[in-house]
Amino acid sequence: MKKNISKKKSYLNFIQKIVSKDLKSKKFTRIQTRFPPEPNGFLHIGHAKSIYLNFSIAAEYNGICNLRFDDTNPKKESIEYINTIKSNVKWLGFKWEKIFFTSQNFEKIYECAIILIKKNLAYVDRLNKEEIKKYRGTLTTPGKNSPFRNQTIEENIALFKKMKSGYFSEGEACLRAKINMQSPLIIMRDPVLYRIMFIKHHQTKKKWCIYPLYDFSHCISDSLEGVTHSLCTLEFQENKMLYEWILKNINLKNTPIQYEYSRLNLEYSILSKRKLSILVQKKIVSGWDDPRMPTISGLKNRGYTPNSIKEFCKKIGFTKKEHYIELDLLENCIRNDLEKNTPRTMAIIDPIKLIITNISKNYEEKILVPYHPKNSSMGMNKITLSKEIYIDKSDFSETYIPGYKRLILGKTVKLRYSLIIKAIAIKKDKNEKIDSIFCTYEKKPNMKKNNGIIHWISKKDAFPAKFFLYNPIFTVKFPDLKKDFLNYINKKSLIVKNGFVNNNITKNEKFNTYQFEREGYFYNTNKTTNNKLLMFNRIVSLKNKWKL
Ligand code: ATP
Ligand code: MG
Repeated sequence: MKKNISKKKSYLNFIQKIVSKDLKSKKFTRIQTRFPPEPNGFLHIGHAKSIYLNFSIAAEYNGICNLRFDDTNPKKESIEYINTIKSNVKWLGFKWEKIFFTSQNFEKIYECAIILIKKNLAYVDRLNKEEIKKYRGTLTTPGKNSPFRNQTIEENIALFKKMKSGYFSEGEACLRAKINMQSPLIIMRDPVLYRIMFIKHHQTKKKWCIYPLYDFSHCISDSLEGVTHSLCTLEFQENKMLYEWILKNINLKNTPIQYEYSRLNLEYSILSKRKLSILVQKKIVSGWDDPRMPTISGLKNRGYTPNSIKEFCKKIGFTKKEHYIELDLLENCIRNDLEKNTPRTMAIIDPIKLIITNISKNYEEKILVPYHPKNSSMGMNKITLSKEIYIDKSDFSETYIPGYKRLILGKTVKLRYSLIIKAIAIKKDKNEKIDSIFCTYEKKPNMKKNNGIIHWISKKDAFPAKFFLYNPIFTVKFPDLKKDFLNYINKKSLIVKNGFVNNNITKNEKFNTYQFEREGYFYNTNKTTNNKLLMFNRIVSLKNKWKL
């Protein structure tokens, strides 16, 4: 069924406005977009923004969106990256119409190069990389023509064929567009279109030793596939001129139009595959899919949901303004998503033993606790009160701290869903560390007194668990703006604790995400084999509590 695509103008972002206008004016009668990653690393949350934009624009306007692997630099690409990208897009919940590889078009792209040469709009240059750079000039000085610029068309065709046949070695020759070495836009100063690379390509194997550059292959692929709106990030603003120049001069059937939007920058993160790969290589993280990484695989392993990421993309919107998005916004999206359907339970991340002295040794009381305060359909959890329980170390203080609403020696506190207890004594080990806290429960508690409430677990319910507490990888909000981002690595980005969860969790196969009361949302990684220990990633705390 066709969707009604008339929308209130004021609610549309600038890309929706362009697409609406193009359909209305019949500039285009159908809409086609594409998500075009280079398979040279894992996708990050910035790519999620691009995926969301391309797929949702196509869906809103009854169009199609394809996945295209921009595989023109085999040195850095791999099948592993291709497979991960596919599974990331699927996991986010998007369906591509077709999968394309730029490499499928290598023959056509080669023909386009020949067309340009025949029109005297491209030539084979024999300057080396450094010379080309020098001849290109700067923002304040014009470029200089290469001495090879005036070769005849026949000479250029012969040389280009030689490039293709493997006659030259890498860097000995390249194909350049013949545009204008004096152009105020450096990109238009005879950009390189093809370079030589003797390397086996993951798709075309050893068929080619010349590879087109992004600027040349991208517009041609867009056109061949039938893309109408080619959406990319602002750094390609100047490339638009070249995009249009190439398409104008090779006479392909379809003329897609490029539009640019601002890339996502996220606080405490870097969003660049090249830089993220440095974190992987230097083993600062365990891999591309480390739960601290802003990659889609990392977020998935951490326990983020596809909905939370899509909601985030929707909230940040699409404009041409460059800015940093607060990490809080991303974290609020996952909190909001998990709030509704995640069971609550108590877990102790950093345990300390507490003994209630006026309870007998074998006493057991079952307490029914709702799994969700607002959603009774989630049922009740049965927890046990017994003489020995665990509380969190941070919930006890030997000395008085003003405003501290937890347990203080000599004072009272309420155990969530249970008794009010008073700390009467502590026992320390030989290192002067508190080993256990002794309490009595208040037989006639003063209900009017505003006691703090702490969470706890009975020793009878306690099942061993390892908690992985994640903090930002960087200590500064804008690591990207620093000279060397490696100087700002957060040494506390992963804190591991051994504690306890309620053993009912081990029997519950329905859920793998829990809200541990007062602590945050946690994801059961299922990484344990012998079922003696559960492992939980902290997806997000209940309030921003990062350690930097
Ligand atoms: P990186 O610098 O991380 O390698 P890239 O732009 O080189 O990014 P591509 O694989 O070429 O990576 O990107 C595929 C698409 O995703 C492109 O259209 C690109 O503009 C878009 N994209 C990449 N990074 C971001 C970002 N931070 N925000 C929004 N879109 C992005
Ligand atoms: Mg790129």
